[in-house]
Amino acid sequence: MPCKICKEKPVMQLPNSNIKLCKSCFVKYFERKALRTIRKYKLISRKDHVVTAVSGGKDSLSLLHFLNKLASKKIDFKLSALLIDEGIKDYRDGTIEAAKKFCKKNNIKLNIASYKEVTRKTLDGIKKQFPDTIACSMCGVLRRYILNKKSRELKADKLATGHNLDDEAQSIIMNQFRHNIALSARLGPITGVKKDPRFIPRIKPFYFLTEKEVATYAFLNNLMDKFKECTYCTESNRFVVRDMLNDMEAKYPGTKHSIVASFIEILPLLKEKFKDQEIKSCRICKEPCSSEICNACTIMQKIKTEA
Ligand code: SF4
Ligand SMILES: [Zn+2]
Ligand SMILES: [Zn+2]
Repeated sequence: MPCKICKEKPVMQLPNSNIKLCKSCFVKYFERKALRTIRKYKLISRKDHVVTAVSGGKDSLSLLHFLNKLASKKIDFKLSALLIDEGIKDYRDGTIEAAKKFCKKNNIKLNIASYKEVTRKTLDGIKKQFPDTIACSMCGVLRRYILNKKSRELKADKLATGHNLDDEAQSIIMNQFRHNIALSARLGPITGVKKDPRFIPRIKPFYFLTEKEVATYAFLNNLMDKFKECTYCTESNRFVVRDMLNDMEAKYPGTKHSIVASFIEILPLLKEKFKDQEIKSCRICKEPCSSEICNACTIMQKIKTEA
């Protein structure tokens, strides 16, 4: 079956439909859908400084590619990139090179921060110190902490991330499994429950696009490097949930879209429920958090005292 729009050779069948699109129609469809998300949820305003979290992998480079096009053609905003080097041997080095190459070619300012400069240890070093702790649980806390702190220092109005529909469906289900609805209230195309100048809102322009669609967009724009998974990814609960949802999707097409669509319907109620939760300041680093000491400082204290 040819491309539904122009009858050229198709490259992709859209999820949950029989519609096939050729390369140029798919790219237009993809960018239109991301732009619709930006407009509907007011993710970017004129003159915003949008810092994009990049890892150098296909998702973040696709996002940077798309936002760069948008900044030069449709919305007048400032774009820069922020990369966090966790310090994972044989994994992160390659993606850092890809990010540097892309930013240089496209004249985008790339800022780099690392776990080592904040915690004095690489993630490999932290994992060696705590072999029984799941690497992703420490890594996620440190990444969120550094991304927020650094993007605030860069005077960002928004922090853009390459999260897609598959990622969001996984997060929703993981929070359900852990009975952590308060965490779900912070999800959505733009994160956060209430405004606080210490938190830079995170925006997810690819929120309604599937992993497969983002991978196709990356491939068609030559953004796919040799893809390697993180050494620790199989330790993560997310890995199990990802497989489970992929199985469900194969048996019952549309499952992931339904999870996200139902979630979007109840999200305003969740935000309302948690809107009065107090945002404290960490006693040690003064960063915003929900308890006396933030999760990042708890990890850093453990690293120091148990060294
Ligand atoms: S898979 Fe886990 S350890 Fe690896 S980068 Fe992602 S969160 Fe960090
Ligand atoms: Zn076409
Ligand atoms: Zn702290």
